[in-house]
Amino acid sequence: MQGHSLKVAPTTASRSCVRHRDSLLLSPQEEQIMSYSRHRNRRFVCIPVFALALAAQWPRLTTAQEQVVDQLTLREATPAEWLTYGRDHAETHYSPLDEINVTNVVRLGLAWTWDIPKVGARLESTPLVSAGVIYATGPMSFVFALNARTGEEIWHWDPAIPDEQEGGPSVCCGDVNRGVALYRDKVFVGLLDGRLVALDRVTGMVKWTVQTTPPGTDFSVTGAPRVVAGKIIIGNAGAEYGVRGYVSAYDTETGDQMWRSYTVPGDPSLPFESEAMSAAAETWTGEWWVVGGGGTVWDGMAYDPELDLLYVGTGNGAPWSRDNRSPGGGDNLFLSSILALNPADGELVWHYQTTPGDDWDYTATQPLMLLDLEIEGRQRGVIVQAPKNGFFYVLDRRTGELISAEPFADDLTWASGVDMETGRPIETPQARYGMTGQGVWLSPSPNGAHNWRPMSWNPSTGLIYLPAQNNNSYYEKAEGFEYEQGVWNTGTVRGAGSRPPRPELIGPRTMLLAWDPVSNSEVWRAEGVGRNGGTLSTAGNLVFRGSGDQLIAHDARTGEQLWTARVGDGTATPVAYELDGRQYISILAGTTSDGPPRMSTFVLDGSAVIPSGK
Ligand code: CA
Repeated sequence: MQGHSLKVAPTTASRSCVRHRDSLLLSPQEEQIMSYSRHRNRRFVCIPVFALALAAQWPRLTTAQEQVVDQLTLREATPAEWLTYGRDHAETHYSPLDEINVTNVVRLGLAWTWDIPKVGARLESTPLVSAGVIYATGPMSFVFALNARTGEEIWHWDPAIPDEQEGGPSVCCGDVNRGVALYRDKVFVGLLDGRLVALDRVTGMVKWTVQTTPPGTDFSVTGAPRVVAGKIIIGNAGAEYGVRGYVSAYDTETGDQMWRSYTVPGDPSLPFESEAMSAAAETWTGEWWVVGGGGTVWDGMAYDPELDLLYVGTGNGAPWSRDNRSPGGGDNLFLSSILALNPADGELVWHYQTTPGDDWDYTATQPLMLLDLEIEGRQRGVIVQAPKNGFFYVLDRRTGELISAEPFADDLTWASGVDMETGRPIETPQARYGMTGQGVWLSPSPNGAHNWRPMSWNPSTGLIYLPAQNNNSYYEKAEGFEYEQGVWNTGTVRGAGSRPPRPELIGPRTMLLAWDPVSNSEVWRAEGVGRNGGTLSTAGNLVFRGSGDQLIAHDARTGEQLWTARVGDGTATPVAYELDGRQYISILAGTTSDGPPRMSTFVLDGSAVIPSGK
């Protein structure tokens, strides 16, 4: 164990610090200095002894190819590694590794675990693996790099963001972060307070920082950035509070902003930023810009390098109630939409709106996936999504043409189907609670029939593995709504009162669906044992999924459960990688209420695991 690898040198204002693994064993004086420095908004800098310690720990690099994350390796998605959020630009969450397969998965055991020295709401991070190092994020935008063979810490970086009670950023749904991006010598992370930070891959030290959101506003960043055509792409969140959504691209080297594309129009007394915004404004009424309109890009993205199109999903309206947001009605473009953008300038190429005139927090920010499928005798390049609204969409990814849309949740009461002529949902008569003046229970709830949890694709089964859920919620228009900064501004009443009793849910609360995107239908399902995590598909014909406090392996063809281990409540998304010919499966899980947040990594013939049940 190295000793004093951390030194404190006050520098310019920035709430950031790099801490070596032994920094948890700081002397009381050092703790005092750190705490002092944090309060003074000072920054910690590591002296060369830190770099020396790192050099000794840095895992042996195997091949030259593994050392490089660039446009080529991102495009080819190096099989043994996991270089971007969905492993590839198509966001398939599919690993071509097959050492671990349906016949031997029962021998899966622990390789190592690592406890994140930071607690928070829960973990949603998909780790990345490159050159023998695994990178991920924990609570409050905490970033870390571990030796992927051993789980030994290489570095961690804590941006020391205060929580909301202490003046930190407003977050609707927990202090979560979905992970980092890698490119060349840098690790990129979006912070809860809206900063985008580039860290040195080897040392974890800050190379540049840029504020991607207006300071002092209700934006936050929870999504993983992506590197597309050499630029770093990042969105944001905050529509519950009331913000105007956008997505931005930055130069990976310098952090300079390359472009910004808004998803909803701003104040029409000012010039619109683009033709798309000018056209979108025709679909809004009233003074929507006061609250912001919403449409944040907080999660799903994908990239097609052949078409050179960047796809992003946009979020719900702010406020939720359309009658409080756009009182004359309208589709309110581009809320709840899949957008195809030119990654060179962010200009809109096509759009498809899954939920026109959103009234229900039915975001289309859910994970996007690009597939090449044969549909009715034709080879189609498609983009698929299972957004919150409960319909599984298959679109032509060149044009945005709707190919099919079918319900994947067991009981949708807001719409009975999607009209293939118009591409619009067939809303049920009770769904528009503002127009009827009647509060109503609807499914899905604002939590959605599918949320942030990645689905995965297996090319040999031709199936998508979708972590879905059944839920419902009460919606009623809030009368006399007025915007107030810093609080939820949904304009919708959801709480108790004189509302009718909750209708019984149809179907399980959570489930894994094996979904055929060609026939757009369910092939098999496995019920959840608790809250869903994300999924991973492998060439071993396995699908791994988080569920409750477990990591579960299923036969991808039949759904048969083959293996399970207890990893901690609140599972994120598993990934697969290979080192020295051994395949590893790694997942983050754990909440404050159920042991430490932890990374657990498995190999064949590893040590004993705790099977299902506590
Ligand atoms: Ca929302």
